[in-house]
Amino acid sequence: MNKRFEITGVVQGVGFRPFVYQLAHRYGLHGFTKNNTTGVSVEVEGDPKEIDAFIEALQDELPPLARIDRLTSEEMAYVGHQSFKILDSDTDNTRSALVSPDIAICNECLAEMNNLEDRRYDYPFINCTNCGPRYSIMHKLPYDRPHTSMRSFVMCEACKSEYTNPLDRRFHAQPVSCYECGPRLSLLDNTHKVLAEGEDALLLTVRSIQKGDIVAVKGLGGFHLICDATNSEAVDRLRERKNRPVKPFAVMFRDIDTLKSSVQISPEETNLISSMEKPIVIVSKRVPSKISDSVAPKIDRLGVFLAYTPVHYLLLDLLNVPLVATSANKSDEPIIRDSATLIEKLGTVVDSVLDHDRGIVNANDDSVVQMAIDRKITLRMARGYAPKSIKLPFQSKKKILAVGANQKNSIAMIFDDILILSPHIGDLNSLEAFEYFERTVETFKNFYEFEPEVIVYDKHPEYMATKWAKSLQMDQPNLHCIELQHHYAHILSVMAEFQLENKVLGFSFDGTGYGDDGTIWGGEVMIADSQHYDRIVSIAPFKLLGGEKAIKEPRRSALALLFETYTLDELETLRSTTLAQFTKDEITMLHHAWKQGINAPLCSSMGRLFDAVASLAGVVHLSSFEGESGLIMEQYVDKNITEIFPFEINDGVIDLQPMIRTMVQMVDKKEIISIFFNTLVEMIFSVASEHTTLPLVFSGGVFQNRVLVEMITKRCKEENLAFYFNNETAINDGGIALGQAWYALHQDSDL
Ligand code: ZN
Ligand code: ZN
Ligand code: FE
Repeated sequence: MNKRFEITGVVQGVGFRPFVYQLAHRYGLHGFTKNNTTGVSVEVEGDPKEIDAFIEALQDELPPLARIDRLTSEEMAYVGHQSFKILDSDTDNTRSALVSPDIAICNECLAEMNNLEDRRYDYPFINCTNCGPRYSIMHKLPYDRPHTSMRSFVMCEACKSEYTNPLDRRFHAQPVSCYECGPRLSLLDNTHKVLAEGEDALLLTVRSIQKGDIVAVKGLGGFHLICDATNSEAVDRLRERKNRPVKPFAVMFRDIDTLKSSVQISPEETNLISSMEKPIVIVSKRVPSKISDSVAPKIDRLGVFLAYTPVHYLLLDLLNVPLVATSANKSDEPIIRDSATLIEKLGTVVDSVLDHDRGIVNANDDSVVQMAIDRKITLRMARGYAPKSIKLPFQSKKKILAVGANQKNSIAMIFDDILILSPHIGDLNSLEAFEYFERTVETFKNFYEFEPEVIVYDKHPEYMATKWAKSLQMDQPNLHCIELQHHYAHILSVMAEFQLENKVLGFSFDGTGYGDDGTIWGGEVMIADSQHYDRIVSIAPFKLLGGEKAIKEPRRSALALLFETYTLDELETLRSTTLAQFTKDEITMLHHAWKQGINAPLCSSMGRLFDAVASLAGVVHLSSFEGESGLIMEQYVDKNITEIFPFEINDGVIDLQPMIRTMVQMVDKKEIISIFFNTLVEMIFSVASEHTTLPLVFSGGVFQNRVLVEMITKRCKEENLAFYFNNETAINDGGIALGQAWYALHQDSDL
């Protein structure tokens, strides 16, 4: 019997063909396997029973990184194969296999790297079929060495024999290399002069970090700025040079045991930190610890991660201290991936640059996640997780491109029954970031030979991606354009992740998004399915004093709510910490602007309500990074406080005045903040109680707040309600493209 199998899914660059080869041997089958641009083909000849056993084992024993989306089989004419072979890739096909993300160094490679006898002892670029770079070194599909930045390195005989031996764990590991034939480290000063190479470069870097220097280190998807996390002077110097006064830095550890001495982590967090994707996980600090207070000042949480490249391991082994490792970029610009740009942009920030000559083709930042009780919340989907592919419940008739939001941008595309999500791109406000956006669109179009027929974008006329999409339509009148409301897209992103097709009750809470009525939305409750939505409840709109300025100054949102609640005369008699943040003249002037609506757009934003409460409670009046007020407030929540503020929901509008009036009478920060969180949860469940048949869906940047998510989760479990947050996909604006793509998929039939 001869049977031919076509397999799609994540089956390239993950050790799939050697796995097939070994199985064919196990069951005594002849034939071949090869990569093509849609996945992998397998043809086997032999006893039908053995073929059945073979295909069962194929699905049961998959390699760790592989995923089968579809497997079709067909009986073929008997050929009489004499052996089982791994053939070269087909390259003349037009459709596409899936690009897999970069993977952290595996334990087997780590063991070899630590083995004095091994020919790759301490080799900084060790990898195998199960680990190492993928997406970050890929020019195009299929994933073969000539299509990667390893193409300039010619394999030595020893590497070649591993690469070509189907039973070797480096069989077809595209970036395989060694001291003989592979990339090399070099240490540069900030004028691009080479200070040292190879092992010397590593040793000099170590000495430099030990004396408190800041060194840029090339990783998988870009450079990190690195310094000793236990050395406050070094950390302060980094803050000063980067002009980043308080925004927390992430800390990299050598292993889970040293990590545990600096933070308190649950078993779930331990698993997440140790997972093969090695994300940054935001966890609770341990006090006291060796980590400098300057790393994450004023908050009780710390972003931690484990070394994930051989270079990180070598550094941490020699240094034996945890390292601040923050993405090397100019604020709001994309992560830097080559030393020339690094020196140009950050030459004054770093003392030296640990570079190497394996090019980064596609930048990819570190992923950021946290646990809320037993669920993962993704704050940034990037290295390790992305590019991510999601198998759709049905075939799309059109090729769809979704261009995402303006902040935390990412893009999504749909073809056949596959949805591809790009890694985090970032805020599109700088020219560099916008170029990175355009480059990412091109990269994915190239990978999948994809030309969009439908493009979907956010309603906000000022979003860069929206403008870009509209200009594309000018050139291509046949391109079908879909404009989508931001908060609906948030809800759709959860529906896409869990493939929910029926009506849900969606809570879309974030900082800002463009509403259907042209005002700023952000505290929206909606009944939604994949094609429509009804906004049923939102918080009472208030004016953002100074527009954009209010985002950086929580005290302005607080003042606006005071203006909504009290007359100017009444305010005179009020003792509020917020009022003390302004001069009398400023208050008069802002009140005038508020009354006349001068530079004071209306918003119903939950993010701004958080800001307002942070100021009224006296914990944050001015903010220096996005989400600061929520992060600071988390630590004031006392679970023993159970009261709630009075609130009313009239005709779908949540009246905030009763809450503000009560809050202003109080002084205890803990009480104000705890009761505010309780009230918010109560509001959610009071709306939910009127729609008991609908599952609850939560999305938007406000749910980056772990304490809030935990309170909601607990309550949902107590009341036995079906509920969903984004888990594997970004809960903030990073998820907008996913929601957009899901919506366009469901419009498909009407086009
Ligand atoms: Zn490995
Ligand atoms: Zn070699
Ligand atoms: Fe948003």
